[in-house]
Amino acid sequence: MAPILGCVADDFTGATDLANMLVRGGMRTVQLIGVPDAGRPVPDVDAIVVALKSRTIAPADAVAQSVAALDWLKAAGCARFFFKYCSTFDSTDRGNIGPVADALLDRLDSDRTIACPAFPETGRTIFKGHLFVGDQLLSDSPMRHHPLTPMTESNLVAVLGRQTARGVGLIQFRAVAAGAEAIRAQLDGLVSNGDTYAIVDAVTDDQLHVIGEAVADLPLITGGSGVALGLPAAYRARGMLSPSAGADAVPAVSGKAAVLAGSCSAATLGQIAEWRKTRPSYNIDPLRLANGEDVAGEALAFLRQHLEAGPALVYASAPPETVKAIQAKLGREEAGAIVERAMAHIATTLVAEDGVRRLVVAGGETSGAVVSALGVTGLRIGAQIDPGVPGTVTLDTPTIALALKSGNFGGVDFFEKALAAMP
Ligand code: ADP
Repeated sequence: MAPILGCVADDFTGATDLANMLVRGGMRTVQLIGVPDAGRPVPDVDAIVVALKSRTIAPADAVAQSVAALDWLKAAGCARFFFKYCSTFDSTDRGNIGPVADALLDRLDSDRTIACPAFPETGRTIFKGHLFVGDQLLSDSPMRHHPLTPMTESNLVAVLGRQTARGVGLIQFRAVAAGAEAIRAQLDGLVSNGDTYAIVDAVTDDQLHVIGEAVADLPLITGGSGVALGLPAAYRARGMLSPSAGADAVPAVSGKAAVLAGSCSAATLGQIAEWRKTRPSYNIDPLRLANGEDVAGEALAFLRQHLEAGPALVYASAPPETVKAIQAKLGREEAGAIVERAMAHIATTLVAEDGVRRLVVAGGETSGAVVSALGVTGLRIGAQIDPGVPGTVTLDTPTIALALKSGNFGGVDFFEKALAAMP
């Protein structure tokens, strides 16, 4: 059977977040990294999420990559499509949400879609078209100061309106509260008034289920992972999806295990401290790396001493003052890049030479560097380890179990929990 839902995500961890949501709803899901090659076999699953890195690239490039991903998903037989962006609508006046959504609609010959980044469970609500992050308007939240996509306007009708020449309307709370039929009627009304997009209010997760039911027949849905909450049930109600228990089943992977941490986020620092109470660890010093010392070699030698007995951790993570001092000496980008290169080298050596087949990686950028160095092109998404972070198994050879955790995700015992989840 062909997959039901084909998704294009504008970044890697956002793609995993959406895939995790679909698996929890009972859809067997894989995540493919980058635009798949034309000849790539179509996996036997219910949903495919193509992870791009298109959030902040030039709009024309984002459009080209997104359309190429959509074309592959169409050829794979997907019946519906989803464009996934961040729940804080991360974008600039140039895009890339508007330009990409315009292009995908054209490709699908469709005259309408919704734009709904809401996810109340994680504090993202939309009321009268205004996006809130927790108790603050988006424009009062820390997103105001984001280095790449500062969000200084909370009215999403206005934000999306600046990114597209097409009309943007609003489906208000009242229609959402009245149910799926009312939402569809509102969307019909907006389209007959000349609009293409509808921002949709949502302040509870129940409303996301109603919205999912209302939009499940649209060729294209755009939104955050929250709006996918209601889709599996809607597809099941239409007889498109069997009541699949075990959507999170992944093949067992055996082999040695290691943890690599390049994230300096507070949650990761806590997880490292917890790990170090009982388990071995090696700390990478970026300044020594920058000096040309063979720090990665030392880390590998350390790991080789310990991996027979059990998992060990290599971390570059440091508290904010230390990171600041290192960045002042090396530059922010260079500090990040040398640590990422070292982590990538350690990961590929462990897999190629040491029989490591289970890896926990902390850090969004760090995960991206490790996955691309390993040449991973696809992940089967397994059960959730902690909110937003599933266990995964690569579709490539050799098969590797990966738990990829961005910044502030995961409880204090995340590393142990992830290793226990990939026995
Ligand atoms: P997060 O998901 O927490 O943001 P990332 O991996 O995305 O984590 O980003 C962390 C960045 O910090 C990476 O580029 C990493 O290489 C870099 N880094 C890690 N340790 C240090 C350090 N001690 N000093 C400076 N930069 C570091």
